[in-house]
Amino acid sequence: MRWCRKDIMTTVLHNARLIDGNGGEPVDDAVVVIDDGKITYAGPAGDAPATDGATKVDLGGDTVCPGFFDVHVHMSLPGTKGSPIMAAMVPPSYRYFQLIDRLKTTLEAGVTTVRDLMGVDVGVRDAVAHGLIEGPRLLVADKMLSQSGGHADFHIPSGLDGTGVIGGKLVDTVDEARLEARELAREGVDVIKVASSGGVSSPNDDPDFLGAREELVSALVEEGHNYGGRPVAAHAIGLPGITAAIKAGVRSVEHGYAITDELRKEMVERGQFLVPTLLETLKPDTATPQAVAKSEKWHKIAQDSIRKSVEAGIKIALGTDAGLVPDHGDNLQEMGLLVKFGGMTPLQAISAGTKVAAELCQVDDKLGTLEAGKLADVVVVKGDPSKDIEVVNDHANIALVLKEGVVKSNRGGYAF
Ligand SMILES: [Zn+2]
Repeated sequence: MRWCRKDIMTTVLHNARLIDGNGGEPVDDAVVVIDDGKITYAGPAGDAPATDGATKVDLGGDTVCPGFFDVHVHMSLPGTKGSPIMAAMVPPSYRYFQLIDRLKTTLEAGVTTVRDLMGVDVGVRDAVAHGLIEGPRLLVADKMLSQSGGHADFHIPSGLDGTGVIGGKLVDTVDEARLEARELAREGVDVIKVASSGGVSSPNDDPDFLGAREELVSALVEEGHNYGGRPVAAHAIGLPGITAAIKAGVRSVEHGYAITDELRKEMVERGQFLVPTLLETLKPDTATPQAVAKSEKWHKIAQDSIRKSVEAGIKIALGTDAGLVPDHGDNLQEMGLLVKFGGMTPLQAISAGTKVAAELCQVDDKLGTLEAGKLADVVVVKGDPSKDIEVVNDHANIALVLKEGVVKSNRGGYAF
């Protein structure tokens, strides 16, 4: 007979409102059964299997959701607590210790998986995976690639070169792009990040600039495909960069503000994802005046553009650029903006942060919804986010966070 410590092996969350991430109406009086880190049942209490001897946790009518994703973060950057240039003022090892609090804050905010699109390497991903430090599960890009003078180029006017410090890498020829993609694949990154347009925070360009021409992006897409099926994520704000990204066949367009109706249609046909990052607006006290002016202009365009992208039926995943501008832990505020500016229903916004994000990250076989067979990444929210999505903005309402069935935060004080 197998010795079974039932208090650890099986947990039953009951007296809950269930939002499973698939976009359907919530189920009142639901039960979620977790066995050895995996969900074995999520649905109405009336249909739940017998669970004698399990640990039963009364959620008091609160809402149980899948663990959330933020598919565009920069854990290496400080958010509103500083500026990217401050990263250049400390040794690299010091920056690793700064990650500890950011990772924990993000996890406790209900985000159990992040895709870091520049600035941390596979060692951080693996340290979290192996339990050396607490944090959300990571997928990492490590470097961001662009042409010289593009968004990854952080030569500042004084002549100092901050490119390597922020995680940028310059590629100007197809051969250089192929080599860099192969080196990143050798390192073991999950995704290849390119900036096909200029940027808001970069010192030498503008979002309307083409930051990596189509043949470079195509070469990255091809090499990523050949070396382990790695997808490409393209930072693309202005139209030339968005066009190059879509035509080259990237998996996701990050930002995508100046997209046209014709390109929206093409994204739908190609099955590409859009990550709108509506939350970021540079703050005058931590950014240069030029960057703040660019930010204000482009975020107006973003807010006007997102509704048409939602209506066109593009697959939209939640991403925020947390660390560059929004603070780590503010990630889920993006859902309120997807509702406000994108015209999504709260349940659609929740799917953008769960099911669709998991599809983008190619982990939807094990994450993104609360269904039997998936890993038990579970977030309990006080209140009903299907009626008022902004309840998630208050961290006090992120009442319980489980990652693979293990309690990572229990602000709600539920009795286990
Ligand atoms: Zn970014």
